[in-house]
Amino acid sequence: LTDINALADEYLRLSFHGMRAKDKSFKADFSTDFDPTLPKVNVVPQEIGRVLLNIINNAFQASAQEDLSGLGSDDKRNLEGLHPTVIVSTKNLGEKIEISVKDNGHGIPDSIKEKIFQPFFTTKPTGQGTGLGLSLSYDIVKAHGGKLEVISLDSQGAEFCIRLPI
Ligand code: ADP
Ligand code: MG
Repeated sequence: LTDINALADEYLRLSFHGMRAKDKSFKADFSTDFDPTLPKVNVVPQEIGRVLLNIINNAFQASAQEDLSGLGSDDKRNLEGLHPTVIVSTKNLGEKIEISVKDNGHGIPDSIKEKIFQPFFTTKPTGQGTGLGLSLSYDIVKAHGGKLEVISLDSQGAEFCIRLPI
């Protein structure tokens, strides 16, 4: 059985330090809100860890980098003085647990919302994105009997939600 709070904390830190190692001027921050009553779940920790890493890396990239998708919301964000932050939280839902990864980055426009889980779909420049992270994550969560969903907040950021059966 796996303690998801500990796993999420570990992969959040791994992602954060990875971003900083690649880019010394990396400016995003993170915070956590872990449910202390979260029950342990029967998962393959390396696989769910990989899902967390994919989703958290995306969140940091959307928050910290310039708007690479050409959506044009970066200027607006800077004007509003938003500090780029990724929030990872967990919740005990009784028969399921929920892990949420929320950022205040450039968000996901409705026009691509249906495509982001497709293999090889990426809005990142060549060499920076394979477009495989979300499709792989979707399959892993599904294989665990769970569900991976996106809650787009448009130009205010994005939230990804993983639900796993207890
Ligand atoms: P990659 O990261 O290699 O591009 P992914 O499968 O991880 O591939 O993501 C696919 C696309 O979904 C990204 O290129 C991006 O357009 C969009 N996306 C994923 N996560 C976020 C996020 N947190 N904020 C905004 N866009 C996102
Ligand atoms: Mg990715």
